[in-house]
Amino acid sequence: MQETIFIAAPALFGLIIGSFLNVCIARVPAGQSIVKPRSRCPSCGTPIRSRDNIPVLSFILLGGKCRSCGGRISWRYPAVEVLAGALTWFFFWKWIGTPVWMAASLLAVYLLIVIAVIDFETMLIADIFSFLLGVIGLAAAVVNPYLEGAVADRLLQSAGGLVFGAGLIWLMAWLGKKIYKMDAVGEGDIFLMGGLGALLGWQGVISTLVIGAFFGSVYGIGLLLMKRAGRRDHMPFGPFLALGGVINLYSLVSPVRFLFL
Ligand SMILES: [Zn+2]
Repeated sequence: MQETIFIAAPALFGLIIGSFLNVCIARVPAGQSIVKPRSRCPSCGTPIRSRDNIPVLSFILLGGKCRSCGGRISWRYPAVEVLAGALTWFFFWKWIGTPVWMAASLLAVYLLIVIAVIDFETMLIADIFSFLLGVIGLAAAVVNPYLEGAVADRLLQSAGGLVFGAGLIWLMAWLGKKIYKMDAVGEGDIFLMGGLGALLGWQGVISTLVIGAFFGSVYGIGLLLMKRAGRRDHMPFGPFLALGGVINLYSLVSPVRFLFL
């Protein structure tokens, strides 16, 4: 029993973090403080009591409804909590031998969850989060398992990844505009790839773009087939870049292996 709790502890910690990420997702796009006031029901505005604010469990016990007004609570809340819990568990045990990198990569994962959900819901990426990814990438370059050599070399590789990531997707955006006359890539995606490049280096940039484009295409084709979207509809790219980023933060994936094996 004790052993089970010990093994599960990172996931429980992640659930609590996920609860805070939900606050960021709901408040940052609206320009509200993420510290005060305490959480309220989005329908009736009643402050949520502590015992109704337990990650996942409260949602299940309340049947996804507010205790005061019965208004529906979005399934996004437990979904983000479960996602944060699961990823924390995986990253904790994967990088337990390099605790500083574990902390840096987990911080990046939490930022990516927030970026992905906000972009999915509002089609916007708050650039402050991409900026923070870049700062974490540069600060953690010394312990980054994907970079090599002395401190100065590592900083150079991280900064190089930042420029390469932002530059490559900027080029894609420019070509998309020239050739297809469409804005497939937004400005937010450029900053996001810069931030990811600082964490993953240039190989990680290519891999993240390939994985992001792959899953983005699968999702886009799915929407078209289900007639949920037309060919000219806009689709956020950020969530798929974030997905590619999380996969590469866990383990650097060769884009060739990803596509052909
Ligand atoms: Zn309510």
